[in-house]
Amino acid sequence: MKPLEGQTALVTGASSGIGAAIAVAMGAAGANVGVNYASSEEGAEQVVGAIARAGGRAVALRADVSREERVSAMFKVLIAEYGTIDILVSNAGIQKDAVFVDMTLEQWTAVLSVNLTGAFLCAREAAKEFLRRGVVPERSRAAGKIIFISSVHEVIPWAGHVNYASSKGGIMMLMKTVAQELAPQKIRVNSIAPGAIKTRINEQVWKDPEGVASMCKLIPYGRIGEPDDVAPVAVWLASDEADYLTGTTIFVDGGILLYPGFRTGG
Ligand code: BGC
Repeated sequence: MKPLEGQTALVTGASSGIGAAIAVAMGAAGANVGVNYASSEEGAEQVVGAIARAGGRAVALRADVSREERVSAMFKVLIAEYGTIDILVSNAGIQKDAVFVDMTLEQWTAVLSVNLTGAFLCAREAAKEFLRRGVVPERSRAAGKIIFISSVHEVIPWAGHVNYASSKGGIMMLMKTVAQELAPQKIRVNSIAPGAIKTRINEQVWKDPEGVASMCKLIPYGRIGEPDDVAPVAVWLASDEADYLTGTTIFVDGGILLYPGFRTGG
């Protein structure tokens, strides 16, 4: 039996990158998958196609996660399609970088709206459905699972990216607080914090050999990650094998958090 057989997962920001890889992996693990996207219908349909070709079920769902009414409409469509939701992977995220004194309110608000408010809106909607439905023992020991895709920047300060780092620090406390609040109702809430993973968000760095070299100096394991380094961790975290995990962050970062400067310094 597949680990997520019969469950329904919603993955936000799933038309490319880490979200797309997680959606495909969840489908392969037996879940019905809602493939959320903000603008790339083509990307989302490719992910839906990949899941279907592997024998899974998926539907593309357009919604800007920072808009309350769009989020609730998306959940209604998903639940009408598959009956309920068991797993939320809140992954949608953006960067709009600027040095601190030049950062506009628009850049600040755009990043906080998608990365943090979007995570709040989707998690709240998922939690309501988990609470309404409760545990279905044949499917899972938990009433529901929420996985936030955070970043190593939930703990590592990042000059020139104060909006992004603040949003990820916010996700850390969003995750822990909701985990504390909903654990008695058997809802598990955790984060995965990737390091440098090759996606569109950082392509200007990894497409340039100098960028790769400078990134790799920060990665003890010596390579930039791939979306498929993250996806199986999400599947496992959503499965009952991880039933005793709640309120924690799993770092998938090739050792970025090991302070590589101290290998030789200090
Ligand atoms: C950012 C990437 C960055 C990585 C490591 C991620 O959260 O989105 O742009 O490469 O952290 O710094």
